[in-house]
Amino acid sequence: MTDRNKTLLRTAVRIHDQLARSPTQSVSIGLLDVASDICLDVARRLRKAEARNWQAATDKLRCDLASSLDQLRECAADVRRSLDPAPTPIVLPAPQIYHDLLALHQEFHAVEIDLRQRKITCQTAPIELDDLYLGPFNIILSLDVMCDGDPYQVVAIDPFPADANSNVTHPHVEGDRLCEGDARAPIQRALRQGRLFDFFLIVRQTLETYNPGSAYVDLEEWTGPRCEDCDGRAADPFTCQGCSATLCDECVFECVGCNAIACGACKTICEACHEPYCSECLTPCRTCKTSICEECSTNGQCPDCDRKEEADQTATAEQPTAGAAVQPHGVGEAHLPA
Ligand SMILES: [Zn+2]
Ligand SMILES: [Zn+2]
Ligand SMILES: [Zn+2]
Ligand SMILES: [Zn+2]
Ligand SMILES: [Zn+2]
Repeated sequence: MTDRNKTLLRTAVRIHDQLARSPTQSVSIGLLDVASDICLDVARRLRKAEARNWQAATDKLRCDLASSLDQLRECAADVRRSLDPAPTPIVLPAPQIYHDLLALHQEFHAVEIDLRQRKITCQTAPIELDDLYLGPFNIILSLDVMCDGDPYQVVAIDPFPADANSNVTHPHVEGDRLCEGDARAPIQRALRQGRLFDFFLIVRQTLETYNPGSAYVDLEEWTGPRCEDCDGRAADPFTCQGCSATLCDECVFECVGCNAIACGACKTICEACHEPYCSECLTPCRTCKTSICEECSTNGQCPDCDRKEEADQTATAEQPTAGAAVQPHGVGEAHLPA
């Protein structure tokens, strides 16, 4: 027998012993004492009230006695039911649990048995639902709490969570818990009886099935809108005011002039200051027709054209006094308007 098989056998024996020991739920017979004491007390007070002819008290106590008797009857029914021999769950014999553990190794991508942590982990193949890749999942069973409320977890190994809720790694998994739906009773039965192979298979099958009625996040809404410029996710999408494209916050341009939203294609830049502007906020320079923003425009001209015009004016103004000597340009001489 290999070391691994010895571990599996030891695990099987432990699981069997633990399940065979698990107490079945019982109703406390002591409840019967409490319920009957209440009835006797009310009855005693009622007799007293009747003897003294206290009409109002008598009426009230008759009501009280009626409801106390109802409670006693319910309590008696519970205790009565608990006296029937409970259908003892048939726990698989240890050798069969051992064979289940062996079979898991055939069935799952990876199986890990951690006797110290008392956990068995089975890894599924990558799961895809309606072409949406959700990656492989680990199904982790805690051997100590197999018959309790929270015996296992379902953990995404390569998570692709829903945009709307990062805790939802699968339409039926939130925060490592599987919404079992119809599989609930079969899962609990399998665990109570030590049918580990069935348990892991039922959980895997539940992961491989999409039930739109009980999904935490519908598959159709799994990924939010995408950016039309970079094709990445656009969690809080912007819309280009030029062409209505959906944009992520990385790809969006905001017009410096009017805060309009633009995509890379609709964005224009002022050719003087190179800041992004929408086309509405730019005007052509009246001389060279390049697009410029209001900040960069002087007398309807771009800074280059304006400088040139100013230079020409300076030259013209100086020409008469300069006589025959033609000064080619007035650059360097500040022109002060009168
Ligand atoms: Zn983008
Ligand atoms: Zn656009
Ligand atoms: Zn500008
Ligand atoms: Zn603008
Ligand atoms: Zn110009």
